[in-house]
Amino acid sequence: MSSRSRVATNQAPPLVDRDVLADDRALSEAVLRHADADTLAGLSALATTAGGAEAREHGRLANVHAPVLRPYDRYGNRVDEVELHPSWHWLMERAVGHGLQGAPWLSDDPHAHVRRAAGFIAWSQTEPGHGCPISMTYAAVPALRADDAIAKEWVPRLAATSYEPGLRRPGDKTSALAGMGMTEKQGGSDVRANQTEARRTTVEGEYTLHGHKWFTSAPMNDVFLVLAQAPDGLTCFLVPRVLDDGTRNVLDIARLKDKLGNRSNASAELEFDGTWARRLGEEGRGVPTIIEMVAATRLDCVLGSTSLMRKAVAEASWHAAHRSAFGGPLADKPLMRNVLADLAVESEAATVLAIRLAAALDAGADPKEQALRRIALPLAKFWVCKRTPPLVAEALECLGGNGYVEESGLPLLFRESPLNSIWEGSGNVQALDVLRALGRSPEALDAWLAEVGAARGQDRHLDRAVEQVLTVLADLEGLETGARRLAAQMAQCLQGALLVRYGPPEVADAFCASRLGGDWGGTFGTLPRDADLAALVRRTTPVDAG
Ligand SMILES: Cc1cc2nc3c(=O)[nH]c(=O)nc-3n(C[C@H](O)[C@H](O)[C@H](O)COP(=O)(O)OP(=O)(O)OC[C@H]3O[C@@H](n4cnc5c(N)ncnc54)[C@H](O)[C@@H]3O)c2cc1C
Repeated sequence: MSSRSRVATNQAPPLVDRDVLADDRALSEAVLRHADADTLAGLSALATTAGGAEAREHGRLANVHAPVLRPYDRYGNRVDEVELHPSWHWLMERAVGHGLQGAPWLSDDPHAHVRRAAGFIAWSQTEPGHGCPISMTYAAVPALRADDAIAKEWVPRLAATSYEPGLRRPGDKTSALAGMGMTEKQGGSDVRANQTEARRTTVEGEYTLHGHKWFTSAPMNDVFLVLAQAPDGLTCFLVPRVLDDGTRNVLDIARLKDKLGNRSNASAELEFDGTWARRLGEEGRGVPTIIEMVAATRLDCVLGSTSLMRKAVAEASWHAAHRSAFGGPLADKPLMRNVLADLAVESEAATVLAIRLAAALDAGADPKEQALRRIALPLAKFWVCKRTPPLVAEALECLGGNGYVEESGLPLLFRESPLNSIWEGSGNVQALDVLRALGRSPEALDAWLAEVGAARGQDRHLDRAVEQVLTVLADLEGLETGARRLAAQMAQCLQGALLVRYGPPEVADAFCASRLGGDWGGTFGTLPRDADLAALVRRTTPVDAG
C-alpha cells in the first residue's frame, strides 16, 4: 500500500476549537442588539467549551450510551432509577453551572433571559437531548410562582448553579431539576381528557394521585408539575420524587420510550398509585397554572430548533469551504453557494426572532411586550420548528455521503429536528393558538402590527405581505382550515421586519424577496439570481476554528 493511500485528502477538518457564539455573527449581533457587550463577553467561556472537541465527544457518547432503566435494586426493592452515562452528567453539569436552567428568574441582570437564550442556543450545539431537563427546570419557575410557599421552597433550588444528580431528600440538596407530566395515553394536546385522579387527603393542599402519564421526560429529575383530575376539575400538582422524610414517592417507571432521536434523554411512561402530591394553584385551574411552564418550554423549542439550525449551517458551510470538487471549493460553485446562502438566510431569520422573544421576556410586565409574546411565541414555535427538519436535511446533504454517516454529527441533528415541533403543542395546536390569540386578545394583534409596522416602507415585499395578512384577517370565515398558512405568513412577516430593521441588507433582501415576495422555488438553493450569495455565505461560514 502506498503511503499516499494512508492519508485522506480533500476532507474538511473537524469543526472544533471555536467559540460558537463569537463565530456566529447573526447570534452575537442579536445579543448586542437586545443586551450588551458584557452579556456577550460573559458567554464566551460557555461558547468556547461548546465549540471544543471534548464537548463534541461527550455529546456523541451521551447519545451512543442511551439511558438504562433500573426498576429494582439488587435486593428487589423498587427504585425506578435511570442510569445515565457520565457524558450526560458532564453536559448537564456545565449547562446548570452556566445558569441555563432556572437562574435567570432570580437574576437582577436586566438581560438575563437574552443571556440565557443565547447561551442555550450555543450550548445545545454540543448535544440537544440534555436541553430537555434544562428547559423544564427553566420553565417550571414561573408556574411555581402560583404558590408563594412552594416557590419559596423550590425556586432557589431550581435556580442554583450546582449540579447534584441522584435522588435524595429535597432538603438535603441545594439544587434541583424539574420536569412535567401532562400527556396521557388517551390525549396529549387535549389535556382535558386527562384521567389521572387526584384524591384529597386529610391535610389541606395534599393529595394522592392514581393513574398514569404516557410521556414524562427526564424522570430522574427531582420534582414534577403534573396535571390530574381533582374533585373540582383539572388541577396542577407538585410531585417530588423523594419525600421530605427521605422515602421515595410512588412513581413507577413502566418503560422508557424507544425514540427516533433525543436518545441521550430518557422519556418515561409513569404509573401513579397513591403518589403524594401537593396542589399548585387552585383546584380546577390546572391549565392556567401549568400554562406558564408550557409557554416557557415553547420558547425553548424555538431556541432549541434555532440551535440545531445554527449548528447544521455552520457544519455545511465549513465543509463546503474545505472540500473541492470539479476543480474548486464547493463553496465557490454558484449552485452550492445558493444552497448555503439560502440555509444561512433561514437560520438567521430564526435567530433574530428567537432572541427578540427572549428580549420580550426580559421586558417583564411591560404590557406591549407581553402582548407581543402572546402572539409571537406560537408563531415562532410553529414556524421555526417546522422549518428545522428540511433545513437540517439540506445541510446534511451539503456534506454529501459524509453527512449521512454518524461520525459527522449531522444524523443526530436530523433525528432531533422534528421533535420541537411535536413537543409542548404540535404544529396544528400552535397555529390554532395563533387564532385564539387573535380572537381573544386584540392587544396581541396590535403588538404584531407595531412590530412589523416598525419596518414599514423599507421593503415592498414585506409591506405587501403584511397587507395580505390583514386581508385574511378581515374575513375570519373558515379560518381554522387556513390557520397554518396564516401562521406561516405572520411569522415570516415578523422575521422579515426584524431582518429589515436590524440585519445586513443582503440577508433582509434575500429573505423578503424569497419568503415574502414569492421569488423562491420552495426548496433551499432557490434564492433569486441577484441575491448577494457570496456575502451571505461569508457571513455564516465559521472562521474561528483552529
Ligand atoms: C420525546 C418526547 C418527549 C416528551 N416529553 C413529555 C414530557 O416530559 N411531558 C409531557 O407531558 N409530555 C411529553 N411529551 C408529549 C408531547 O408533548 C405530546 O406528544 C404532544 O403534546 C402531542 O400530544 P399527543 O402525542 O397526545 O398527540 P395528539 O394530541 O393526539 O395530536 C396528534 C396530532 O393531532 C394534531 N391535533 C391535535 N388537536 C388538533 C386539532 N384540534 N385540530 C387539528 N389538529 C390537531 C396535533 O397537532 C398532532 O399533529 C413528549 C413527547 C415526545 C415525543
